[in-house]
Amino acid sequence: MKPFNLTLFLLTGFLAGCPQEKDSDELIQALSQRESAIVKISAYTALGNLPALETELNAALDNGMSVNEIKEILIQLYAYCGFPRSLQGINTFMSVVETRRTNGTVDTEGEAPATVSAEGKYQAGKATLQQLTGRVETAPSGANAFAPGIDVFLKEHLFADIFGRGILSYRDRELATCSALAVLDHIEPMQNSHRSMALNVGVPETTLNAALRLAGECRKATEAAETSAFPLGAPGSSDWFTGTVHVQSLVNPDEMENLYSVGQVTFEPKARTSWHTHPIGQVLLVTSGEGFYQERGKAARRLKAGDVVCIPKDVEHWHGASDHSRFVHIAISNIAGGSAVTWLNPVTDGEYADKD
Ligand code: MN
Repeated sequence: MKPFNLTLFLLTGFLAGCPQEKDSDELIQALSQRESAIVKISAYTALGNLPALETELNAALDNGMSVNEIKEILIQLYAYCGFPRSLQGINTFMSVVETRRTNGTVDTEGEAPATVSAEGKYQAGKATLQQLTGRVETAPSGANAFAPGIDVFLKEHLFADIFGRGILSYRDRELATCSALAVLDHIEPMQNSHRSMALNVGVPETTLNAALRLAGECRKATEAAETSAFPLGAPGSSDWFTGTVHVQSLVNPDEMENLYSVGQVTFEPKARTSWHTHPIGQVLLVTSGEGFYQERGKAARRLKAGDVVCIPKDVEHWHGASDHSRFVHIAISNIAGGSAVTWLNPVTDGEYADKD
């Protein structure tokens, strides 16, 4: 049993992350700044997370992407997530560009789009598509044969009008498409075919995997933002948590005479704390999802949003998410002698499985 320094836990400890998070972080960090920008702009546009999009648009301009490159990503995305999401992205970008201009920031305008010839668009689009897929199409098949109108729109419009505008390479365009599709549900055939196209136009497999992970992080952050007024926070340490957990400090103990601290903990499905005790107890306010609280030797208590748990001092227990739901609680922890918790053993898979 080691005493636990709460400040260290809230401010630095959890940044260590669990092994899975660490691998994911390393993979994501291998992306170039430009690749990360394309992924995040595309994912947040598709998700409609405009506050996060605004941050990423500013970062992309700060890092040297041109205004026209970013416009081009947002224009292309209408083909994958609809005019409303694309237009909201463009409106957000317009406001970002105007604010920066007002503040005296000079951004690079960049290359102008190429003019696409009105003649032979179907053949031009078909040629582009064949380049993307690496396969020769003898005749439209599947949905394109069943509904020929979509075949014409896909080739003349998407793969001629849009892909023919230049500014972005096919690699960039497929990276954007894969990132947007990755955050949308029930479109597996399109996700799979665009992943193949991305690899085919030269996106390295490690880059594509990192992009998909990063898009997944954007989705998680968006979902957390939708269920909480507070940020998701940083990954929780595998020393004290099993599975994917994020911790956001809300009240620094230093500001409260070191008597207590307040933090939000977000558990992904199956994630949980280790067994632990609190020297003066703890209060949990459940804000979203479904989870469990269990004291050693007792049946687990099922928790849902709105539940309050008063944990007595020195009682060994754990808390965490159910098998299929994300679980978020705010923890108010009392501090004694500089410590708010004593961590014990992890809750094993067997112990976790026995909860219900
Ligand atoms: Mn606890």
